[in-house]
Order: sequence, then C-alpha cells, then structure tokens
Amino acid sequence: MKFYEEKLHAGIVNKGYAQKFDVEEVLFSDKTEFQELVVFKNPYFGNVMALDGVIQVTERDEFFYHEIMAHLPIMAHGNVSNVLIIGGGDGGVLREVLAHQDVAVTMVELDSTVVDISKKYFKSICADAFDNPRTNLMFADGIKYVAETTNKYDVIIVDSTDPIGVGEVLFTIDFYKNCRRCLTTGGILITQNGVPFFQPDEVSVTNNRMKSAGFKDNTFATVPVPTYVGGLMTLGWGCDDPQNRQKTCEQIGKKWNTLGITTKYYNPQIHVSSFSLPNYIADLL
Ligand code: SAM
Repeated sequence: MKFYEEKLHAGIVNKGYAQKFDVEEVLFSDKTEFQELVVFKNPYFGNVMALDGVIQVTERDEFFYHEIMAHLPIMAHGNVSNVLIIGGGDGGVLREVLAHQDVAVTMVELDSTVVDISKKYFKSICADAFDNPRTNLMFADGIKYVAETTNKYDVIIVDSTDPIGVGEVLFTIDFYKNCRRCLTTGGILITQNGVPFFQPDEVSVTNNRMKSAGFKDNTFATVPVPTYVGGLMTLGWGCDDPQNRQKTCEQIGKKWNTLGITTKYYNPQIHVSSFSLPNYIADLL
C-alpha cells in the first residue's frame, strides 16, 4: 500500500473530497470481530490507526482530542472521583483521565483487538494506562453497559467511532438517556460529535437527542484536530447543572495549577474558550 485514503467525508457529503496519507509501512491490517482495523506508519504523523476506513488517531496530533475530552469535563465538574469511558480503545483519553490522581476509571470498549494493537503500536499514546490499578477495563458494547449497570459516574466520556457501523448506537436517545441515569448529581456527559463543517447534521441531531434524553443543559464544545479534517470538531455536552460550564478562567486555573499535569493543548484559557461557538455551529442548535 503506497497511500491510505480516508473516505469519511467523500462518503458522508459526497463532495469528492478525501484525506490521503503516504504509507511508509503497513503495521497491521485485518478484520476484527467488529470492524476493519488498519495501522500504518506515515512520515509526518507517525503511527496512524483507521477503523472501517475512518482515521481514529495519529501519534502526532492525538493530544488535542485526548486532553480536551478528559480535562474539560473533569475540571468543569471540579470534584470527580470516578469516570466512565465508552470506547477509547487507543488509551489516549484513559491516559489523560488517569493524570488526575484521585480518579478511578471504568472503560467499556467493544473491541479487544483495538486495545491489543494499541498496546503494540501506540505505546506513545496509551503508555501503561491499561495496567494502571485505577483502571477497570471491560470488553462490552457501551449501549448494553449503560442500559444494565447500576453504577454511577461523575463524568462519562464517549470516545467512539463515527455514527456508522458499531458506533451508531452511541448516538441514540436511549444511549443518552441511560448515560444521564448513570451520572451522579451534577455529572457530565461528553461525546465525540464529528466535524460540523462536513457533518452539520450530527450537531443538530445530537442537540435534539440530548434534549429528548432530558439533559437540562446541553451544548457543544469545540477542538481543532488536524487529522479530523474540516476545521473544528464538536464535543457533545450533556449535564443537569448549567453552572459546570460557567466557571471562569480564574476558578479553573486555581485548581488546575495545583494538579501538576503537563499538557500541550489544554489550559484554563482554552477551557473557557472551548465553549464559545462560531456562528456556523451555533446556528445548527
Ligand atoms: N478519537 C476517535 C474518533 O474521534 O474518531 C475514536 C478513537 S477510539 C479508537 C474509538 C473506539 O470506539 C474504538 O476502539 C471502537 O471499538 C469503540 N467503539 C465503537 N462502538 C462501540 C460501542 N458500541 N461500544 C463500545 N465501544 C465502541
């Protein structure tokens, strides 16, 4: 394989547009029980993972997404002791959540092969997060887990594939309803919600579904991720306490500066500005 061409947006908006990578070496390419998994090496981005033809993670730009998915809800909440991650098989979100020393994590990932392959080819991302004594990793479908569990979490992070294939169930009203039931008082749900320049419907549809699920405060945060092409990506936000996302830079900074967590993207200024929506996104709500 000389090139790897992602066809996500060509498929979704049919605009004949694709993202293409030079492939230095194919490290893994096979069908797992659930999806087609490809890992290749690119001269600029390092090791790159794709699932069902869609780029999931690269070594070079993973920090934008993983840092914001973990620190935005944990810092907004301010008193988190347990977090549920749905998906996230590369271990990047898990790594960032574990940087909060008082937090225990349950991670529910559908596909054990993604985790095995990440331990082998994405050590720079997952480090030893899967072996951390504060990690409780289980392999199950996220929709089934939240429907059945009686456990409650302060933060639920949905680090899923796009709403096609096995990830589709993680964008449904039933899933959001069950997540809301699994949150402690003032708990926060944050979800991967696509790049609205190419996938505008994902914002309006998720917005309506989160409202139908009963969240009293739902909105979107944004983050730029170079290989999730098309500009800002959105993160769905569901909570019953609007004050969680109204904390000031000073309030966030006061706690953040005591934690000693090193980041490349997230900081208290980014925290606050992540909730500011450009008009083309706000108009979709
Ligand atoms: N950050 C990436 C993105 O935004 O596209 C997602 C990366 S992570 C590898 C996505 C994970 O979601 C995959 O490992 C996949 O197996 C998992 N996943 C998909 N559907 C799932 C489901 N129904 N339950 C649990 N995990 C699921």
